[in-house]
Amino acid sequence: MKRIGAHVSTSGGVENAPLNAQAIGARAFALFTKNQRQWHAKPLSSESIAAFRINLAAAAIAPEHVLPHDSYLINLGHPEDEGLAKSRGAFLDEMERCAQLGLKLLNFHPGSHLKQIDEAECLRRVADSINWALEQTAGITAVIENTAGQGTNVGYRFEHLAAIIDGVEDKSRVGVCLDTCHTFTAGYDLRTPEACAATFEEFERVVGFRYLRGMHLNDSKPDLGSRVDRHESIGKGKLGLAVFEYIVNDPRFEEIPMVLETVDDTIWPEEIALLYSLQRS
Ligand SMILES: [Zn+2]
Ligand SMILES: [Zn+2]
Repeated sequence: MKRIGAHVSTSGGVENAPLNAQAIGARAFALFTKNQRQWHAKPLSSESIAAFRINLAAAAIAPEHVLPHDSYLINLGHPEDEGLAKSRGAFLDEMERCAQLGLKLLNFHPGSHLKQIDEAECLRRVADSINWALEQTAGITAVIENTAGQGTNVGYRFEHLAAIIDGVEDKSRVGVCLDTCHTFTAGYDLRTPEACAATFEEFERVVGFRYLRGMHLNDSKPDLGSRVDRHESIGKGKLGLAVFEYIVNDPRFEEIPMVLETVDDTIWPEEIALLYSLQRS
């Protein structure tokens, strides 16, 4: 079964996320377990944790179909020791929050070299950061998201994802999330069935679908190869519907959370229904 949902709000508490997912007809969702623009957050209360678990079960969504996203401040490839240590500490805290909620995945953008180190060194630091966090936790998989390659972000080539995975010791607890907008603006065409076949074949060859733990389903405002990260509603951007029709009909995307991060959350129910309607059988 395909598991489509959206990155829902946690306004009022993380326990509201499953309710918000249920309300839009989602079979998967993403959330922030803390404010994504601040370094520090209060620990999750035992009441909030218990309510989250109850609401998740009531929404009939499995923990494997929830894709928490970390704070945008975290840079696991930070070139400076102090910035790296701060990011690692915050990442570990996020992993622990996911574990408290009974979740299995933590999605993050790999990092930025800030023009102080080269991409290869940045990717090594990301892998070392993942190793450091995995050693101190259990049961949570680190899910690396591919990026558009905006600014000094690494992770815009499939080879970058492969290099990070290569440096991670416990391969059973590392995976990737492909964002359709990022993939496209990073330079991989997805506008036709033929282009999708070629791009996903390249992904299989360089990284491997066995590492795919999630998808972000976004259309794109900017064009192919622009290296700009700007999402658009499904079918309203430069991608069009072909890639989404391709994904919902391809068995390699079964049973992984596929979440919208599109710009107009008022039409998420329609977007989710549209994506399901593209299934042929
Ligand atoms: Zn994304
Ligand atoms: Zn994005």
